[in-house]
Amino acid sequence: MREENCIFCKIANGEIPSKTLYEDERFRVILDLGPAAKGHSLILPKEHFADLYELPDEWAADAMKLARKMAVQIRGRLGADGLNIIQNNGEVAGQTVFHFHMHLIPRYENDGQKIGWEAGSPSAEELEAVREQILGA
Ligand code: 5GP
Ligand code: ZN
Repeated sequence: MREENCIFCKIANGEIPSKTLYEDERFRVILDLGPAAKGHSLILPKEHFADLYELPDEWAADAMKLARKMAVQIRGRLGADGLNIIQNNGEVAGQTVFHFHMHLIPRYENDGQKIGWEAGSPSAEELEAVREQILGA
């Protein structure tokens, strides 16, 4: 299913042109218009899933296989030194387009980008409490 006012539905299905790197029945891979680094790409499913929570298992499996294939190609062709895969879910997590997508961000020595977080320092007890909360134990 597509969603009428979704820009990534339109891009994924070719209604809006994009710099396409790859396309198959399920996915289109495009260059991000606001790249964090040279070769920053987005994997878009052709059906509308708002985020990871809506993505069916088979699509998730195919998306990860495709991410690997594209990562290998991008590294080989652009000479990237590393790669971040980023996938944002929810506004609070930085998602701005509410159609599932995976970012493939090639990284280069001294590219000046900072992708990360402030590390916390929980006690062993606090970690255990979180573990039990997640497990429902
Ligand atoms: P998010 O913040 O939702 O994880 O990522 C959205 C990404 O989509 C951003 O990196 C942004 O640059 C990219 N983007 C937004 N609109 C367009 C567009 O029309 N075309 C392309 N190629 N990328 C887009
Ligand atoms: Zn969509």
